[in-house]
Amino acid sequence: MELLEQRIRRDGVVKGTDVLKVDSFLNHQMDVALFEEIGREFLRRFDGCGVNKILTIEASGIGIACVTAQSFHCPVVFAKKSQTKNIAGEVYTTKVESFTHGRVYDVIVSQKFLGPRDNILIIDDFLANGAALEGLIDLVNQAGARLVGAGIVIEKAFQPGGDRLRAKGVRVESLARVKSMSEENGVEFVD
Ligand code: 5GP
Repeated sequence: MELLEQRIRRDGVVKGTDVLKVDSFLNHQMDVALFEEIGREFLRRFDGCGVNKILTIEASGIGIACVTAQSFHCPVVFAKKSQTKNIAGEVYTTKVESFTHGRVYDVIVSQKFLGPRDNILIIDDFLANGAALEGLIDLVNQAGARLVGAGIVIEKAFQPGGDRLRAKGVRVESLARVKSMSEENGVEFVD
């Protein structure tokens, strides 16, 4: 998505070898007009697939998922990072290792909001090693829901998550795919 790649080139900041900061427009301050374009692009890619619910993970997926849901005319459910050690029934639960914080979270979704009649589109801001996406897919499977696919804003294609999930048969649509990046030379995209 050309508009998004231009914005990443202009405002993205590379930290070290593997972290791209986009907090001026994507996941801290949010450019909602850009989100609308992102939502329309996800709809273009997943139109006609029967999506009736969007699933994301807190916190930075929520804004993008909500604006995308306006294009799909469906609700959003976000998986919560739970502090609770003993999680009672009535929730699906999985574990996700955070890329940015390096710790493992219990992640939960109420069984009220995910079930066998749902056709789920997962939305997230980044795809790196794939832990967040795999956790969300686990929740979809526990619920007996159907996974339509995953819409990712920025995939760091030099990290293994995207390839691994596609090899498992998951339809992953990423709007910007970063081939390589460095503090000196900035960001290069997959053609
Ligand atoms: P994964 O689970 O695929 O390794 O990482 C995905 C999650 O980590 C995303 O939900 C995102 O919040 C965070 N993340 C991964 N890489 C980056 C990055 O380069 N920059 C930012 N800002 N977040 C990232």
